[in-house]
Amino acid sequence: MNILVLGGAGYIGSHAVYNLIDNGFNVVIVDNLKTGNKGAIHSKAKFYDGDIRNKNFLKTVFKNEKIDGVIHFAANSLVGESMQKPLEYFSNNVFGTHVLLEVMNEFNVKNIVFSSSAAVYGEPEVVPIFEDFSTIPTNTYGETKLMMEKMMKWSSLAYGINYVSLRYFNVAGARSNAEIGEDHSPETHLIPLILKVALNQMKEITIYGNDYDTYDGTCIRDYIHVEDLVDAHLLALNYLYSGGKSDTFNLGNNRGYSVLEIIEAVRRVTKHQIPFKIGTRRAGDPSILIASNEKAKKILGWTVKHEEIDSIINDAWNWHKLNPTGFKKNLTSQFN
Ligand code: UDP
Repeated sequence: MNILVLGGAGYIGSHAVYNLIDNGFNVVIVDNLKTGNKGAIHSKAKFYDGDIRNKNFLKTVFKNEKIDGVIHFAANSLVGESMQKPLEYFSNNVFGTHVLLEVMNEFNVKNIVFSSSAAVYGEPEVVPIFEDFSTIPTNTYGETKLMMEKMMKWSSLAYGINYVSLRYFNVAGARSNAEIGEDHSPETHLIPLILKVALNQMKEITIYGNDYDTYDGTCIRDYIHVEDLVDAHLLALNYLYSGGKSDTFNLGNNRGYSVLEIIEAVRRVTKHQIPFKIGTRRAGDPSILIASNEKAKKILGWTVKHEEIDSIINDAWNWHKLNPTGFKKNLTSQFN
């Protein structure tokens, strides 16, 4: 079976590609390498360098390859950046998905699994969050993911395109054998940034606000191992091919950790001191996001293998220790 992975050179996309190839799928990757890494592309995947908003380019890919299903990761995904550059997010995430659905419809490709986000919920009234909770995003990123979901819903009704929307909570960790891992430039995510402090590449981590209405004042998030997350994509493909109806699922661990608790966990795992300072809040951040993952467990048959935060951080740490400058081997580390 041939699967087209859009964004297959990115952090989550590359882990999905490795998992698909491990499981005997043929993989075609499309990535514009704006945030993806060449070094993360699996040698057995066929790679097209281009942007999904370029319809002629995308049509060429669908013409050249026999595509049985699509997994769509190609999007901008940073909460803070989305508040500074909202139009870039609408263009890449919403317009990009629009072009993709047009091309899928033209080429009669009927199954898609795509990345959505916990950011669609906004500030929840209670946790854990179930899939039928109201969706009132507090940032542009979440708004674009919600618009993508809505486009999928109406396209599914009109054109018979079946979808599974996976609402990710906070994805972390790396492939357990440390072949690939998380490498953004610039890095903005909490766990890889704290690991940079452990590696002496940064002198401290800044906590974005300690005046939230949480038990220690810092934001609470639900962290899920990237390998558990990508497992759910294969289950979702299988679900669609077995006739499952279009649906939306949370992917999280059903458990939250504050920023201070994550710093403490990184200290435990790495045995390094992690100096921190308190900064101001980051625009768009909800105070708490914790998933109910019952639906994905029940309907997709998903199981979470890495429930412990230390195990997630340990796999991230192993990759970062082996690849202190990420996929870009020639960069020298520096304080910033
Ligand atoms: N965070 C922080 N300092 C940082 C980066 C992140 O305090 O340098 C906080 C951020 O405000 C959020 C949590 O850590 O509450 C996770 O942020 P991240 O950017 O990793 O993921 P997001 O929740 O935005 O998807």
